[in-house]
Amino acid sequence: MSPERSTLATVTDVVIIGAGPCGLFQVFELGLLGLRSELIDSLPLAGGQCIELYPDKPIYDIPAVPFCTARELIGRLQDQIRPFDPGYHLNQEVTEVTPRPDGRFDVATNKGLRFDAGAIIIAGGVGSFQPRRLSVEGADRHEGRTLHYRVRDAAAFYGKDLVIMGGGDSALDWSLELADKANSVVLVHRRAEFRAATASVQRMFALREEGGIDFIEGTVQALAETDGQLRGVKVTGRDGVTRTVSLDHLLVFWGLHPKLGPIAEWGLQLNRRTIAVDTAKFQTNVPGIYAVGDINDYPGKKKLILSGFHEAALAAFAVKEHLQPGQKVHLQYTTTSPLLQKRLGVTGELQQEESSRKLAG
Ligand code: FAD
Repeated sequence: MSPERSTLATVTDVVIIGAGPCGLFQVFELGLLGLRSELIDSLPLAGGQCIELYPDKPIYDIPAVPFCTARELIGRLQDQIRPFDPGYHLNQEVTEVTPRPDGRFDVATNKGLRFDAGAIIIAGGVGSFQPRRLSVEGADRHEGRTLHYRVRDAAAFYGKDLVIMGGGDSALDWSLELADKANSVVLVHRRAEFRAATASVQRMFALREEGGIDFIEGTVQALAETDGQLRGVKVTGRDGVTRTVSLDHLLVFWGLHPKLGPIAEWGLQLNRRTIAVDTAKFQTNVPGIYAVGDINDYPGKKKLILSGFHEAALAAFAVKEHLQPGQKVHLQYTTTSPLLQKRLGVTGELQQEESSRKLAG
């Protein structure tokens, strides 16, 4: 029997549902408190929205990191949690979370993995999300080859003729990003009003004036194929005329269907597609189940990565108290605490550096 089909449950302190930036940082905060965690994600790679939606885009608002791409951020988070050696269980959805009479939880995935966890932290973002797909004849035949709903490798589009569809941030950002790297970029949107940031829209129109980008206000009627290969799209403009726009690649950014999926079945207090939590412990209405990151909701919530990091720190302390009731949890600094440094596996390095400094001095 393959390990994925094993019926033996992995016993752990915490199961974290979702390996986006907040789920990853949650491992770190739990690890500092001596708690072991297992990460589960329905996507094949860790990183959540950062890897799935905008891996090569720059992020500027991570404290003390003036600039990094989303992919670099996820790489750094994975480096940071390496000392705590979390279990990664990717490509599988958590389908069942069942509270047990002893206060622990049985957790199961759609691939047959089972866990016996002291606490659950849901870091499920917008749930398992699906792109809104182009619904014209033959579209599914080209998906992943010349028709894309996400950018995995921007360099694959350099020097190519691109048609980009959509009016939100992803469509505008990628149009601007690729304008001087692709051979041509034609943006297609059904109207001249955009959901994207005003500055991006202004930049797009300025670039259009300079001839760096083309914009067509219209809707796609059909694909144009030659020998089964996608070669263009037939777009009907506001003037009622249908034109064929040639392309090497078609990028469609029509947003995502946020699908909360099985999380909605676990008896949690939901507010639309988010889970209500308190702001001291980030605990849900079910004791022992916590929620951090984009998936939670409380007064003043801002869906930012840094908010999720703060939530992860407080949730970790709450989980520690939940698992070891009555034991005082002391706040310690990584700078000065030998215990935290031991957990991080850095004590030796620090001592070495200290002695080298003394020797050099
Ligand atoms: P997510 O990143 O959404 O990860 C959640 C994970 O949970 C997913 O991988 C999903 O597959 C998994 N999951 C869900 N349900 C299950 C289940 N039942 N079983 C298994 N796995 C499950 N924020 C900033 O702070 N700064 C920025 O500059 C910034 N730029 C952005 C640009 C774009 C284009 C977008 C779309 C977002 C941006 N954000 C930015 C927002 C930021 O990406 C999110 O706040 C962040 O990703 C939330 O992290 P998370 O870990 O809570 O959730």
